[in-house]
Amino acid sequence: MNLFNVYPLYDVTPVKGLDCIITDDKGIEYLDLYGGHAVISVGHTHPEYVAKLKDQLDHLAFYSNAIQNPIQEELATKLGKLSGCEDYNLFLCSSGAEANENALKLASFANGKSRIVAFNNAFHGRTSAAVAVTDNEKINAPLNKQQKVTFLPFDDVAALENELKKGDVSSVIIESIQGVGGLDQASTTFFHALEQLCKTYDVVLILDEVQAGYGRTGKFFGFQHHNIKPDIITIAKGMGNGFPIGGVLIGNHIAAVYGMLGTTFGGNHLSCAAGIAVLDIIEKEKLMENAISISAYFQEQIKSIPEVIKVKGRGLMLGVEFDFDVSALRKKLILEKHIFTGSASNKNLLRILPPLTIKKEAIDTFITALKESLAELQII
Ligand code: PLP
Repeated sequence: MNLFNVYPLYDVTPVKGLDCIITDDKGIEYLDLYGGHAVISVGHTHPEYVAKLKDQLDHLAFYSNAIQNPIQEELATKLGKLSGCEDYNLFLCSSGAEANENALKLASFANGKSRIVAFNNAFHGRTSAAVAVTDNEKINAPLNKQQKVTFLPFDDVAALENELKKGDVSSVIIESIQGVGGLDQASTTFFHALEQLCKTYDVVLILDEVQAGYGRTGKFFGFQHHNIKPDIITIAKGMGNGFPIGGVLIGNHIAAVYGMLGTTFGGNHLSCAAGIAVLDIIEKEKLMENAISISAYFQEQIKSIPEVIKVKGRGLMLGVEFDFDVSALRKKLILEKHIFTGSASNKNLLRILPPLTIKKEAIDTFITALKESLAELQII
C-alpha cells in the first residue's frame, strides 16, 4: 500500500532526536528550530519525559473513559496551577482540530446559536467542524449544514460589533498569535473590546492556544499578554512534546452534562503521563523564562542582518520577514546548513519555533548560517 500523498517532503529521514538536535539516517545532525510545528516544547527525548512514559507503559497504557483515571486529575491540577487557569475545567482529546471542534460545539450547546466568527488568515485545524479555511475568499464557508463562519480583519471593532449584534453568532474563535497564517496578532485594545462585546451579545469567546500556548510566548498562554479571560481555551501541540494530546479548558459557567462530549483516546494514560512530564519540566527548568531571554537574544542578534525587514511574533513563536519568497532560503538552511525552520502562508516569512530549551549558542549557529545562506544565494 502507498501512502496517501498529501505532504511535500524534504529528503531528510530523522532517526534520533536529543534536545534541539535531530540526527538523520546518514548520521548528519540538524539543529531543530521548528519542533515539528511548535510541538517539541521540552526538547526531543528529554530523559524525564522518556522515563515517565516508559514507567506508565510498564503499568497500563490504555483504558477507556468508562472507568476512574486519576492521572487525568493529576494533569488537570498541574495544568491549572502552572497556567493560572485553576478555575477552568479540562476536557481531554487528541489533537488541536479536535479541541477546536469540541469548543465550537460547546459554544453552540451553551447559547443555542451556531454561526462562528473567525479572523482573516486564521488556522484552527483540518476537520469539517473546525474552522479550516485560510483563504479569505471562502467567507461563510459552510462547516456543516448549520454552521457558517464569517471571517473578519483584526482590530476592526466596528465590523466585529456589526456581526455580533445580528444575534446569531455562537462563538468567536481567535489565535492569540496566528501560526500558519503568519504571526499576526490583534492589539490589546481589540482583545479587550472582543471580550466585552462577547459578553454583551452572549457570544462564547474561544482562544485557540494550540500553537501559541504552553509557555512558548513567555507566559503560559499567549492571551495572558492581553489580560483577558476567555470562556474556552484550546490546547494541543506543545502539550505532549510529540505524544498526541489536546485539551479544552472550559470556564466554570459552562456546565458539563454526561454525554455532551466524548472521545475514545482523549485522556488516555500514556498521553496524560506525557502531559504531566511536560508540565513538570517546564516548571523545573524555568522554560517560560528561557523563552523570554532567548527571544530577546534572538531579536538583538537578528539586527545584524539588514535583509530582515521585521521580526514578528513573541517569545519563541517568531517569524523572520524578508522582502522575497524564502522557499530557496529555507531549503538551503535545511539541506546545506542542517537547520530546520518553518514556512507560513506568507511566503516571505521564515518561522522559528524551537524547543523551549534552546540555548544562545544555537541562535548564534542560526545567525551565522543565515548570513552565509543569504550571501550564497546572492541576496546580499
Ligand atoms: N489551531 C492552531 C492555531 C494550529 O496552529 C493548528 C495546527 O497547526 C491547529 C489548531 C490544528 O491542530 P492539529 O493539527 O493538532 O489538529
